[in-house]
Amino acid sequence: ADEKFDVIVIGAGMSGNAAAYVAAEKGLKVLQLERGEYPGSKNVQGAILYADMLEKIVPDFREDAPLERHLVEQRFWMMSETSHTGMHYRSDTFNEDKPNRYTIIRSQFDRWFSGKVREKGAIVLTETTATELVTGRDGAVIGVRTDRSGGPIYADVVVLAEGVNGLLGSRAGLRERPKAAQVALAVKEMHFMPRETIEARFNLDGDAGVVIEAAGTISKGMAGMGFVYTNKESLSVGIGCLVSDFAETGETPYGLLDAFRRHPSLRPLLADAEIKEYAAHLIPEGGYRAVPQLFGDGWVVVGDAGQFNNAIHREGSNLAMTTGRLAAEAIFQVKTRRQPFTAENLALYKRMVDDSFVMKDLKKYKDMPRLLHTQSSNLFLTYPQLVSKAMEDFVRVDGTPKLEKEKATVRNFVRTRSWTGLFGDAVRLARAWR
Ligand code: FAD
Repeated sequence: ADEKFDVIVIGAGMSGNAAAYVAAEKGLKVLQLERGEYPGSKNVQGAILYADMLEKIVPDFREDAPLERHLVEQRFWMMSETSHTGMHYRSDTFNEDKPNRYTIIRSQFDRWFSGKVREKGAIVLTETTATELVTGRDGAVIGVRTDRSGGPIYADVVVLAEGVNGLLGSRAGLRERPKAAQVALAVKEMHFMPRETIEARFNLDGDAGVVIEAAGTISKGMAGMGFVYTNKESLSVGIGCLVSDFAETGETPYGLLDAFRRHPSLRPLLADAEIKEYAAHLIPEGGYRAVPQLFGDGWVVVGDAGQFNNAIHREGSNLAMTTGRLAAEAIFQVKTRRQPFTAENLALYKRMVDDSFVMKDLKKYKDMPRLLHTQSSNLFLTYPQLVSKAMEDFVRVDGTPKLEKEKATVRNFVRTRSWTGLFGDAVRLARAWR
């Protein structure tokens, strides 16, 4: 128990594994604690892996990582009760030697990543929960207590990679717990079917894959999205909405998921599947304005615990891996310079995050979470219904002159939102998108 580590990493998710791997690779003495039975056991199944950010950590990951399908097509669906208006992007350029995005199954992937962490020499303890941060007389974090017997374990720096709930850091007063309007509750299930069925239904060759991102009436006017990811022999199907919206409306996540999978656009794609593995998890969605203090005397926070999530592009694990890697690089630099691990010196980590795509992307969309929250019924209910009606009128051939149809469509928009309303919505959206 008297052994002292350079770094203790709390959590073996994407951010924790990235931090532990890079720190151990650089020769630091690393202890990683994971409360789950094995890394990934607590993590929600099925997700998209962004290769570029993993390549910066494990360059040859394609050799043995458990990858499902590489993505060649992205479908965006704006949904009404009976329809979807879609935009699809499919390109053969994504059938490249080193594909850019893959679907993965997190429980398998996290286990693989953790194996790599061990190979680099880190000590990984599973079924071990860090229960408390230990501070020195000056208030600096100097170690952790766990639910195992024995005293505290000490380290120069503790990397908080504990995920969105981040109880350890919030209990220690390092940051607040995220507010209900800053986190989405997502539910997800796995639909198993033979791979040939998936390939036929989604028009796929071999290990190519498709993503569907769906928004509209499926979230019943709440800020939220549904998704379908194709794995080799299963589909990950899920939906998530802001926790505050669930509380206000009384809707339930499983009620939404049930309605989503029964939607006429989705039902044929899911037919005859064997549904398994329900899971529910929070996603940080507060964006730039929700990012807490990221460093202090003896500690840094990475990944979901730092609210690093780009809700617009649905990127989370790549921000987690990048912040984990940058934290380890910053710690290594401080160590190499033989400086103490004070807040002043660990501010280097924050500067590195600020310089990276992580903070730049969050900053770009800094007003988006508020817009989605305050305008949710317009954006997720009214407009999808208006667009669906306009598209139906455009496509249906019934002898009505086209000019009359167009005028009716404009009238429908104006009657529902008014000219000033339409103008205001366009300006608000453009501003938040900037
Ligand atoms: P986590 O992966 O949550 O890991 C935290 C780990 O810390 C857990 O293993 C937990 O058991 C452990 N832990 C917590 N507290 C303690 C403690 N006190 N002691 C010991 N261990 C502890 N991102 C994408 O990039 N692409 C996607 O397609 C995508 N889809 C998603 C779908 C859903 C339904 C959800 C919920 C999220 C999705 N995300 C996606 C987001 C992504 O999952 C997260 O951004 C990412 O997992 C964050 O990694 P992390 O390491 O910070 O946290």
